[in-house]
Amino acid sequence: AKGDGRDTWRRFDASMGRAIRSRRIMEHDLRHAISRDEMSLVYQPQKRLDTGETIGFEALLRWNRAESGNISPATFIPVAEDSGAIVPIGRWVMEEACREAATWPDHISVAVNVSPVQLHYASFAHDVRTILARTGLPANRLEIEITETALVRDMNRALIALRQIKALGVRVAMDDFGTGYSSLSNLRAFPFDKIKIDGSFIRSVDTNPQAATIVKAVLGIGRGLGLPVLAEGVETSEELKFLADEFCQIGQGYLLGRPSHRVDLAPLPAAHHHA
Ligand code: C2E
Ligand code: CA
Ligand code: CA
Ligand code: CA
Repeated sequence: AKGDGRDTWRRFDASMGRAIRSRRIMEHDLRHAISRDEMSLVYQPQKRLDTGETIGFEALLRWNRAESGNISPATFIPVAEDSGAIVPIGRWVMEEACREAATWPDHISVAVNVSPVQLHYASFAHDVRTILARTGLPANRLEIEITETALVRDMNRALIALRQIKALGVRVAMDDFGTGYSSLSNLRAFPFDKIKIDGSFIRSVDTNPQAATIVKAVLGIGRGLGLPVLAEGVETSEELKFLADEFCQIGQGYLLGRPSHRVDLAPLPAAHHHA
């Protein structure tokens, strides 16, 4: 029996060792991912729910890692944040997204996810300004998406960074609204231009009365504060109908368009004519 305990610990040590090693290797690979040309961006449309018109695209990072293939950003972004690699990677994302968006029609914006680590990096606003100048993208066509974890680290530092960003004319969206610790007070304390309701609420909006009530309340908050609300993760026509009936302004999700390397800028399909 004593031996069993020791074996358990030995196995535990071995698996811990493996986990730490594989994380170190990932940190190392992340530092070289850009120079090895393994990173790319896909773009997912954000559409007005009343007209179906595309008003922008969210840029989403993809890592095609040598040997292991595609790795989800949910896995590698936290590692990049811990190791600091997110700063150069985030700068690359911003530049790549702005360069791409500069080729789109004037009325179409790009939304870029910004990690808390980037936001708290001293030169963030300066970097964004440099990138806008270099790519020629007008500031009002860039939106940054920030989650609440970005705000709780150091409220003062976050507020300074957001004010600097807004002074450039860049818009700021609160991402994953409803999943954080104190969404409501953050909404009041920080100068947001848009609320993105997290997909976890949208998924059950047509089947779960509680989720429906919460979404309606968020839409009411948006109306009261004069902020447009975007619903993430719209997957079914029932969800879409609910949101449109409740006057949610903007939607994003597989039903409206998948993230893609190729951006579809085709005009709206003309109404079908029946002879
Ligand atoms: P997010 O910002 O909440 O992005 C939305 C995620 O939901 C994306 O996953 C998107 O592909 C996925 N999605 C879109 N529509 C649907 C839908 O209808 N149903 C479902 N189930 N999912 C949908 P993705 O691309 O895997 O990204 C995951 C997270 O990684 C993002 O969540 C964001 O937090 C982070 N991320 C992605 N790209 C970047 C980046 O460039 N920088 C930073 N800092 N974070 C990023
Ligand atoms: Ca986002
Ligand atoms: Ca989300
Ligand atoms: Ca559903």
